[in-house]
Amino acid sequence: MNLHTSPCNLCPRECGADRDAGEKGYCRADSSIYVARAALHYWEEPCISGKGGSGTVFFSGCNLRCVYCQNHEIALGGAGKPVTVERLAEIFLELQDKGAENINLVTPDHYVTAVAKAVRQAKEQGLFLPIVYNGSGYEKPEAIRSLAGIVDVFLTDFKYMDASLAEKFSHAPDYPERAKRALHEMVYIIQNRPSDMDAPGQTVDITSDFKHPALCFDDNGILRRGVIVRHLLLPGHKKNAKDVIRYVHETYGESVILSIMNQYTPVCGIAERTDCKELYRKVTRREYEAVVEYAIGLGVKNALIQEGDTAKESFVPAFDGEGV
Ligand code: SF4
Repeated sequence: MNLHTSPCNLCPRECGADRDAGEKGYCRADSSIYVARAALHYWEEPCISGKGGSGTVFFSGCNLRCVYCQNHEIALGGAGKPVTVERLAEIFLELQDKGAENINLVTPDHYVTAVAKAVRQAKEQGLFLPIVYNGSGYEKPEAIRSLAGIVDVFLTDFKYMDASLAEKFSHAPDYPERAKRALHEMVYIIQNRPSDMDAPGQTVDITSDFKHPALCFDDNGILRRGVIVRHLLLPGHKKNAKDVIRYVHETYGESVILSIMNQYTPVCGIAERTDCKELYRKVTRREYEAVVEYAIGLGVKNALIQEGDTAKESFVPAFDGEGV
C-alpha cells in the first residue's frame, strides 16, 4: 500500500484527513511538521543518551493520545512550531554540531514520510549520527518498512498486550496486533541490509537467517544499531506488563533490549477520568520489583531497569521551542 497524507493513511487510524489541504487528522497534524523542542537530552536509556546527550527532536501531535500521556502538552498538538523539511534537516545537523550522540526522533509516527526525507537530506549534507526512531509502536508495517536504510535504532514502545486496556487508555483496541507486526518489521529491518529487503508490504519471515548482528554498540557503549522495546508499567497493571515482557522475550530473546520503565507520573487532568482511577497514583516499588523479578525469572538478560524515584514531572523537558 502506498503511504500518503491526503487522504492520510500513514498510521493504523487511517483517518483520511486531507492534510495537504490543511485539515488536521486524529493526530492533530496537518501539512506542516510541528516541532516542540530540539535539544540534547540526558534522560533516555544510557546507551542512547551517553555522555554527550541524545539529540532529541520532539514532534507535536500523536496518533494515540493516551489518557495518561507523559508528554500531553505536545501530544495534543498544542505546542510546537511549524518547520519545513529543509529546516528539519538543518536542526539535525545543528544537534550533531552540539555533540549529540544520535538524532532521536520522538513521536515521529505521523510525520514518517517527511522525517525520512529530512534525514536523507541531512545525510547528503554530512549527517553521520545514528538515527533513533522513538515511536509509539502503533504503526503500519509499510511505514516502518519505508525507514529501511534510514533508521539505525528503533526505540519503540510496546504498551499493551491487553486489547481492552488499549481501548480504554488509547482508543486503539488493535494496538497489540499492530505493535506485534510493527516490531517484526523493525527487527527485520535492523538485521537485513536495505538492498536485501523484500518489496514493501510483503510478509516478513522473522525466522529467516539475519545478515547482521541484532545489536551493535560503539566503543563508548552507544547503541549504533538495534531495537529497544520500552514498556512503561502502569499502576495496577502488572499483568499487562508481564504479558508484554513474555511476548517480546519469547519472540525475540536477546536480539532486542527490553527497557522496563517505572516513571509513570499522574498527569494534570487524569483525576477527571473517573473510569481510570487506577492511574491517579504512581507505580509502587513493590509493583515494579514484581515485574522486574518476573522478567528475570523468564531468563531475560538484555534488560534495562530504572532505579530510584524516576517518576517526577521534572524529567519531562520544557516544550518551549528550544532549538527549533
Ligand atoms: S497519521 Fe494522523 S492524519 Fe494520518 S491517518 Fe494517522 S491519525 Fe490520521
